[in-house]
Amino acid sequence: MQTIRQGRVVCHLGKGLAVADETGRIVLCHTRRRLGDAAVGDRVTWEPCEGDQGRVLEILPRRSSLVRPAHGGRIRVVAANLDRVFVVLAPEPEPDWLLADQILAVCECRHITAALILNKIDLEGVSALEGALRDYQAAGYDVFRISTRSGAGLDALQSVLHTGCSMLSGQSGVGKSSLTNALLPDRNLRIGELSAHSGLGRHTTTSATLYPLPGGGELIDSPGVAVFGLAEVDPAELAQAYRDFHPHLGKCRFNDCRHTKDKGCAVREAVEAGMLSPARYERYLKLLERAGTAEFSGG
Ligand code: GDP
Ligand code: ZN
Repeated sequence: MQTIRQGRVVCHLGKGLAVADETGRIVLCHTRRRLGDAAVGDRVTWEPCEGDQGRVLEILPRRSSLVRPAHGGRIRVVAANLDRVFVVLAPEPEPDWLLADQILAVCECRHITAALILNKIDLEGVSALEGALRDYQAAGYDVFRISTRSGAGLDALQSVLHTGCSMLSGQSGVGKSSLTNALLPDRNLRIGELSAHSGLGRHTTTSATLYPLPGGGELIDSPGVAVFGLAEVDPAELAQAYRDFHPHLGKCRFNDCRHTKDKGCAVREAVEAGMLSPARYERYLKLLERAGTAEFSGG
């Protein structure tokens, strides 16, 4: 009788899965036909089989998952058991704050901790962003100010990354792949290892992959999926995803208030009284139109 082992899905191969065992060793695994859709980060049970390979038996319950709409109206899990998502911003390209708020809202609804990374602090335009960043800090989000180029601020970021499983997100050009390379110096070697002559197909560099970080913790590198859609966020829940709104919710005149109308809305009153950021509120109204639809799902 073979023993049943536990592991973690590292990436998809053409015809199987790469799974890290309890020691972090990577085992190339077949899957059973009725396994269901395994996602990067999934905890699984597996058993050793012929050669050095394994067979995945079962996907264990997920602590969290990030999803995106896929072909034919299906939902695909991008990453499972994530603890933390970072929204990466930079002075250049100019921040897409609406996208940042969308990612933060999705994470809040999925009970995944979110934080902001301001990269490229070596560039001149950086101080112009401080006002907007203060809105997020006031809402309770951590902001890490770093330069991947100079190395400034990387120590503080790394000490947070040492626990749990993290993922970088954000618009293109902000430095996500540069930062990933800085955090995972031997990443490309490991990818070569995985795509070896297994008969299970290759690992493609554009697909999501879970890496152990040198100092502890894990990073899911997901180059193809930088943002997450609002398809699964119920418009009625969106205001709950705005942490800065929390003190004002429940004080509106109508229970089902969406915080769009003037009369008796405590959120609007707070904006007018200068207690809430008008910019965040304006973006809330925009996201409200998108909530519950697959629009702007990104990727
Ligand atoms: P991604 O699209 O988010 O993965 O961004 P990339 O990692 O490809 O970086 C986009 C550009 O920003 C590249 O030309 C990088 O060299 C540059 N870049 C990344 N980090 C920094 C930084 O800290 N400072 C400066 N000045 N440029 C950076
Ligand atoms: Zn209201």
